[in-house]
Amino acid sequence: MGPRSRYPLAWTVFATLAFGAGPRRASALEHVTAVATKGEPPRQLEGEAVLEDRRGGLLLKTADGALYTLPAESIQKRSSDSKPLAMLNREQLTAKVMAELPPGFRVHNSTNYIVCFNTTRTYAEWTSSLLERLQKAFITYWKRQGCDVKSPEQPLVVLVFSDQGSYAAYARKELGPAVSNIIGYYSLQSNRIIMYDLTGLQALASGSRGSMRDITVTLSQPAAEPLVATIVHEATHQISYNCGMQTRLAANPLWVSEGLAMYFETPDLSSTRGWSGIGNVNYSRLDRFSDNLQNNRAAPLKQMIESDDLFRKPETAVDSYAQAWAWTYYLIKWKPKQYAAYLRMVQDKPMLQEDQPQKRLADFHKFFGDDLQALEEDFFRKMQRVK
Ligand SMILES: [Zn+2]
Repeated sequence: MGPRSRYPLAWTVFATLAFGAGPRRASALEHVTAVATKGEPPRQLEGEAVLEDRRGGLLLKTADGALYTLPAESIQKRSSDSKPLAMLNREQLTAKVMAELPPGFRVHNSTNYIVCFNTTRTYAEWTSSLLERLQKAFITYWKRQGCDVKSPEQPLVVLVFSDQGSYAAYARKELGPAVSNIIGYYSLQSNRIIMYDLTGLQALASGSRGSMRDITVTLSQPAAEPLVATIVHEATHQISYNCGMQTRLAANPLWVSEGLAMYFETPDLSSTRGWSGIGNVNYSRLDRFSDNLQNNRAAPLKQMIESDDLFRKPETAVDSYAQAWAWTYYLIKWKPKQYAAYLRMVQDKPMLQEDQPQKRLADFHKFFGDDLQALEEDFFRKMQRVK
């Protein structure tokens, strides 16, 4: 989720499992009847109990890659067998997603993606080629940094609606009223990206929507830059949580998750082959951060490291995103080894266990040393020279 969408989602959509001294791991295929979403009728769910709490609450992973947190009181019936969870293959996953969508959707398959769309096929193809390039670049990049990443276990699902209205009707139940501010998002719950065709936007209506080239021309306009960046940003989240870089519902500090997504979000639409945008200076973030730095409004690093509060408060969210980008850019450029080692530590964090501020700080010191003051001064000094 980006600052262009004011309310980062993260844990909010997940009911809290009441676990005491840490959840127990269960390994069987669960057949559950539960009220998965408040206010909705009970559903039959089948999946692997990734975590179980003392009261019988479950974190359930289903064969389409979705995660359900089911507090004990939401579970009406439950039986289990020893069959292992078999993730759906491309055909099965496509059939499941299409069955959940309103009529009029079609499917475009690419190597690593299933794009379900009710806009033009060309736009679906344009989207998947952008995401394929991004995924390849992301995994190659982090493998080179020594991170343990690999191709996702299942094709990744992308839903593309033809217009903002039908998209909002679909996404409102997950995003609430914030849906009007959000042009696309990655859902930690369903593991899918949901968005709408940007070329349909009035603001960009000058270009025709015929060919891939038309779309690239339309979306290369300055007005489109932040919109395309949002799609790339969300796609980076999806890849990061599916290639082993990050674990969904683990204690991922928001500066890490958002910093990573912003490090990749500077799209390079001119190249149809590679992705030369990795690590380019993200000027919309740099400008905001530099302005805050010059006016002594940059937040103390300690505050951003020990908690996500700055990202959650509407009045500081946009500034915190800019600072998270600057901080991530600085670490990757000038502390790459420590940063990659720190990411590996975050990668191994258990699900559904939030870290207290002292723990987050202690984790940070383990990889970047104890002198946060000196690190902050070096960070500010070096970022002042980035042009
Ligand atoms: Zn984000």
